[in-house]
Amino acid sequence: MKELTTKEIDDVMKQSQEAFLLYRQVQGTAKALFLNSIAEEIESLGSDLIHQAMEETNLPEARLAGERGRTCNQLRQFAALVKDGSWVEARIDTAIPDRAPLPKPDLRKMMVPLGPVVVFGASNFPFAYSTAGVDTASALAAGCPVVLKAHPAHPKTSELVASAIEKATTKTGMPKNVFQHVHTPSFEGGKALVQSSFTKAVGFTGSFSGGKALYDYATQRPDPIPVFAEMGSINPVFILPGALKVRGEKVADMYAASITQSVGQFCTNPGLMLGLKSPELSQFTMQLSQKMEKIAPGTMLHPGIAANYKKNREKALAQKGVSLSAQSTDAAKENQAITTLTTVDASDFLVNPTLVEEVFGPYSLLVRAGNIDELKASLDKIPGQLTATIIGEEEDLIEYADFIRLVMQKVGRVIINGVPTGVEVCPSMHHGGPFPATTDSRFTSVGTDAIKRFVRPLSFQNFPDTLLPAELQQSNPLGIWRLFNNELGKK
Ligand code: NAP
Repeated sequence: MKELTTKEIDDVMKQSQEAFLLYRQVQGTAKALFLNSIAEEIESLGSDLIHQAMEETNLPEARLAGERGRTCNQLRQFAALVKDGSWVEARIDTAIPDRAPLPKPDLRKMMVPLGPVVVFGASNFPFAYSTAGVDTASALAAGCPVVLKAHPAHPKTSELVASAIEKATTKTGMPKNVFQHVHTPSFEGGKALVQSSFTKAVGFTGSFSGGKALYDYATQRPDPIPVFAEMGSINPVFILPGALKVRGEKVADMYAASITQSVGQFCTNPGLMLGLKSPELSQFTMQLSQKMEKIAPGTMLHPGIAANYKKNREKALAQKGVSLSAQSTDAAKENQAITTLTTVDASDFLVNPTLVEEVFGPYSLLVRAGNIDELKASLDKIPGQLTATIIGEEEDLIEYADFIRLVMQKVGRVIINGVPTGVEVCPSMHHGGPFPATTDSRFTSVGTDAIKRFVRPLSFQNFPDTLLPAELQQSNPLGIWRLFNNELGKK
């Protein structure tokens, strides 16, 4: 496993640019074969891949098998998208030469790939947001070569998946270096990847500090590039009074499971709950506490994340007005996280910005608001989020409709009577949200719309038909682009 120097990184990016010149010409049907082939090669790694990931991440077999299935499903969804071709949003305005007072030119527009994309593998999704995850799949679907920076917490898993992509590259005749896999020794390596003049966009999932650092490197370039970073989120859950009256215990069951699933290591983990002070809210807190105490500490993805959890949990517990409502009865062993529920009054929450910082792990803070104005003021203090959830009966949803509309302004997805964890992979999913949840709320990193991050519109004015991309041609549906692909096939 070779770790690259800064000079070597620029060479890798140059090779990626060379691959781009060929890969951008590859037809949708050929890209679909490539993406489907990656999925097949990953599946053919069989249990070796799962066992390697178990060893490096401490995640259980069933979770990893499910995540591998999701990853292959994502690749196949992008394959279907590019085969269909309509994602390029082709627009054709034919010329009107005799229009008065000025003739109208022939104008055609479609989405074209940006160029080499750098993807940072995520620690908490070794498959779905890592080597062949959604960032890689969407960039390759768009026509962008990918340079993948392996996450240091699962380098061997990443190598195995990279080998599957390399096999698919050869089998389907894709250009050399359309995908490259690198390990870098330090933050300097990540910085060099973002700042290489050949890099045209970046995909990232991880901490706020990591994502913001990459964003800053990108904006400091002479030619700034987009960084699509998905960073921390605490995914507030608003529990309305009617629901607490009739099904507090059920909601407590649902949330004890959601807060602690995969040791809380999900970007959609419900790290904040808010309700109006009442005997029912007190009872709910007690019920949730009892359930969370029974959930044993779990081993985290890597020692760094476990150390961060311990530090951030202690910091949260030391804040004014915060009290410990529940923690796992069993003691935590090395690298394990204690399940934790804390509570605070809205009056303390409102004056303390530390309380909206992510505690990544099986942790949630419950805020008690004295009235609806305090609940609204609390919402005001919550920065941009991936999701928000409303738990309410039908009458609650009517009574609090204005409040729910305020919630919508803060997030990328609003959930009614569910949990934020468990992100469906389909075209209508939006997994993004206003800063600091992501660096650009207009884009998603789940679902086929993720392709939009790595393309830009290009207008073709008065182009002869033979020079137009196939999608924009009138007479010859494959034209010059098929010629290019024939040339590619010979390589
Ligand atoms: P991370 O620290 O953000 O690192 C992710 C990747 O970004 C790593 O490859 C890392 O490089 C790189 N990176 C981070 N800061 C950088 C910088 N300043 N310059 C260049 N590259 C940089 O995430 P992590 O290692 O997965 O976990 C650390 C913490 O992030 C967790 O404790 C948790 O709080 C948070 N996290 C949140 C989510 C979420 O979905 N909300 C997901 C995962 C993690 P190196 O390889 O050189 O370390």
